[in-house]
Amino acid sequence: MLEVVALEKRFGTTTVLKKIDLKVSQGELVFVIGPSGSGKSTMLRCCNRLEEPTSGDIIVNGRNIMAGTRRDLDRMRLQIGMVFQGFHLYPHMSVLKNVTLAQRKALKRSKAEADARAMDMLEQVGLAHKADAYPGELSGGQQQRVAIARSLALDPKVMLFDEPTSALDPELVGSVLKVMKDLKSKGMTMVVVSHEMGFARETADRVVFMDGGVVVEEGKPDELFGNPKADRTRAFLSRVS
Ligand code: ATP
Ligand code: MG
Repeated sequence: MLEVVALEKRFGTTTVLKKIDLKVSQGELVFVIGPSGSGKSTMLRCCNRLEEPTSGDIIVNGRNIMAGTRRDLDRMRLQIGMVFQGFHLYPHMSVLKNVTLAQRKALKRSKAEADARAMDMLEQVGLAHKADAYPGELSGGQQQRVAIARSLALDPKVMLFDEPTSALDPELVGSVLKVMKDLKSKGMTMVVVSHEMGFARETADRVVFMDGGVVVEEGKPDELFGNPKADRTRAFLSRVS
């Protein structure tokens, strides 16, 4: 579903990603952990060319997003949903409008179609009753769930999450994780960068540990958390847990 092949990213003379390979199958949830600065966000951002890879290939649903025209890229980008730490909702637009805007613009859906899809997705994240509210009237957890609904409304093939709960008060984290867990159970393919190790143990199919721009180790949550092979993985896990 998503394949990262020999991905390299340099900023000036600094190589931030060193030939990363990562394969995510249909319906799989891959959890990515690693120290600050190890390249997790850069890797996710390269997956839809928000950050331009220096070299390597990104294959989404069998197609290489590094090849093809600008229009191909725009179309393929829609297949890759992305949710960040900050929610980036438009404050002057209602929740419903936030969730329909990109559908109308990028997918050229009719208003009725976009509204119907938005309401379905808001239902899925438990916020249908907030459709007419404004972002400022919602909690951080609710705003993040709207951001997830907005992404889902574009019918992505894969969802990328970069620390989706890091900006939230602890009591709001659970509601967002629950939405992600529901998504997983519905078969969504997901890559999640997060520090929520409990969630990883419970939900991830595979955990990838990155350090210094390389994938140091990967495995099933039980293996990687319970019996890490690399010294660097052990050192990291002992610091965070
Ligand atoms: P964190 O856990 O703190 O979010 P991360 O693993 O997501 O860290 P990245 O944000 O991917 O790490 O950064 C990896 C490295 O790339 C860091 O050393 C960072 O300073 C560098 N970097 C990221 N973006 C840029 C940029 N636009 N220009 C120069 N260097 C950058
Ligand atoms: Mg990051």
